[in-house]
This record gives sequence, structure tokens and C-alpha cells, in this order.
Amino acid sequence: MKIQVIQGDSFWYYSQLFGIPLPLIIASNQQLNPNQLMIGQEVSIPGYQAVAYTIQANDTLWSIAQSNQIPVDLLLRINPNVQPTQLQIGQTITLPQRITTPIITDVNNYTYEKMVTDLQRLIELYPFIQQQSIGNSVLDKEIIELQIGSGSRQKHINGSFHAQEWITTPVIMLFLNDYALALTNHSPIRGLDMLTYFESNTLSLVPMVNPDGVNLVINGAEAAGSQQDFVLSLNNGNTDFSGWKANINGVDLNNQYPALWETEAARKPDSPAPRDFPGYEPLSEPEAIAMADLARARPFEIMNAFHTQGEVIFWGYQGMEPPASETIVQEYSRVSGYEAVQYVDSFAGYKDWFIQEFRRPGYTVELGSGMNPLPISQFDEIYQETLGIMLATLYM
Ligand SMILES: [Zn+2]
Repeated sequence: MKIQVIQGDSFWYYSQLFGIPLPLIIASNQQLNPNQLMIGQEVSIPGYQAVAYTIQANDTLWSIAQSNQIPVDLLLRINPNVQPTQLQIGQTITLPQRITTPIITDVNNYTYEKMVTDLQRLIELYPFIQQQSIGNSVLDKEIIELQIGSGSRQKHINGSFHAQEWITTPVIMLFLNDYALALTNHSPIRGLDMLTYFESNTLSLVPMVNPDGVNLVINGAEAAGSQQDFVLSLNNGNTDFSGWKANINGVDLNNQYPALWETEAARKPDSPAPRDFPGYEPLSEPEAIAMADLARARPFEIMNAFHTQGEVIFWGYQGMEPPASETIVQEYSRVSGYEAVQYVDSFAGYKDWFIQEFRRPGYTVELGSGMNPLPISQFDEIYQETLGIMLATLYM
């Protein structure tokens, strides 16, 4: 919610008044100078929403504060024009309502539009989350990157490189929501004080690398727009796209990277297909290019690409992985129960290229087990397994 600055206000005062850590208030108002607040300016307070309340008979501000568990000085401060001794029945006042539960509750059929709707709400409630577009998909959807944290250590997690593996997107989104909740409510996650990690890390998230493909899997051919006939022909006329991994051009985005790409191309389909076609050349697809540009622009200490399935974590590439890769993957394995696998006969993936280019730890994490696409009934279990990995990304 927002509050208007009056004489004598400061971020420190808001922090005390709302019970919200000062670094979160600063990060939520980066356009303002904390040392030069001006009267009438609007300041965003994360973790709260403003709710209208209509005065009933026998109400006092004290009783309203009590029954809504709001400090009375906070209630007075956000209703500066209300005379506490002259409340009128039917008069409307503002209640600051602390957010204590996740807003991401519907994780089934998690389309691009569902993600965008959830993000709008998340950023409204938690303006310390930064959102930007890192490029556009073939069908011109913005590929969205989120950043959370004010620290110098940059880490990265992405999901849904592969269309049918879209369950990885709500896993990342719910983590972002839980992280924000933990920060604003001073509640640890698995015993970890998240504010410490907020201040030491900047976590970059691209929850849906392949939005066109995800929407095709979930909504069918009509989601392909002008490409509808094309994707139907690649799918042999089948209207069930649940096995689709590629982008809307029929290119497998996780086979697009110049890291033994030729080796991969020689044994994979040589024309567009629902899966495995690496493209006619490396980095031909806008989604793959956007992710390469992102990694080049930021010094990510750790990169995790979330896929499904198999409960394994691939962590090596041609001996180019640094020693830290093994240390970190052992921790990932410990907290998730997933098996760490150093080498696999598969190349040209984002993880391979990341390790080759930057010699920093990069991982392909295969979430869950069973047949792709994994049923949404596995979501809670997968989230619990993956939560440890996402937390370890912050503390390692
Ligand atoms: Zn995959």
C-alpha cells in the first residue's frame, strides 16, 4: 500500500510503524531519496494492502485496531483526517492489512497470462521485486526477468525452457511469493532468515523462457496464432500438444547453444519438430538469444535451469566446470534428495554453454519423476524438494 509523506516522516519511522524491515522499504522506493522525503510524496509500503472499512455503531479506533490486530498509532497515521473522537456511523476509514498468505494459489495450467496476472499482483504488494523484459518470444510475448534482493552476489534460476515442463514456472513463482512473505513477516524459511540473503544476493528469475510453447501445450493450436497450421503439421495433425518441448518455430531452445552444437545437430532432427531440433544454426531463436544476452550481461555466480523430470542434477560440462560446482551440487543433492550427475551424453544446452563461457557453476535440475508432462498433483512434493535447492542457491 502507499502512504503520503507528512512533516517529520522518514523511512525509518515507516519501518517501525508498519513493522517492515527498513531495507525492504528502501528497495521498494528506489525512485525516492530516503534523506530528502518531501511532503505529499507517495511511499510504497511492501507487504500491506489498504482495505476500506465502514464505521459501525459503538466502534472506536481503539476497538477497530484491536479486532484487526493493527497498532492504533498506525491506524491513526494512515487516517490523518479522521477525528478519533468524532467517528460517524457509515464513515469509511482505511485499514492497513498485512499480507500473510501467498497470492499464488492456482498453479494448474499455468499459462503466460496467468503468470503475468500473478506478477502484477506480486509487484503491487512487494514493490521491492523488480521486473523487466529481456526480449520477446517469436509470437512477441515479453520474456520476463524478475530480480529480488539488493546484494552484490548475483544468482539465477530459470524455468520452462521446454514447453511441456511448464510446472517449473509456478515452482519459481511460488518461491518468489514465499520469499517476499518471509521478508515482510520476519518469518524464516526452514530456519533461514531471508533478510540476510536479500541483502547479500540479487536473485534473477526467468520463470518462463518459452512462453509461446507453454501456451501451446496448455491451450492447444489456437495459442499459436499465425503459426497454427505450421504447428499442427509438425504435430502430425494431432491437436494434443502435451508432448511439445520446442518453441513455436519447432526449435528446441535447450539445444540452441554453441557448446558442441554440431555434435548435437548431427544426431537430432534436421528440420522443425515438437522436440529436439537444435535449429539450423546455434542461437537462431529469440528466446535462446535473450537468455544468452542475459548471462553475458550479468556476472551470475550460479545458474540453475529447471526442467522435468528425473530427480537428477546435471552439473558438469567437458571438465570446464569449476571446483565449486561439485561443492554446491552436493548441497543441492543433500537438501532435495536428487542425484548429482556430472556428465551426460547431451550437449548444446544452456547449462553446457554457461559453464563453457563463464567457467562458473551451472546446473540442469530435473524436477520430479514420472512421465512428462508431470501431473499438477505432484506440485506440492516437487516444490518441497526444489525449495531446498532455491534456498541453497542463496546461501552457497
Ligand atoms: Zn527439459
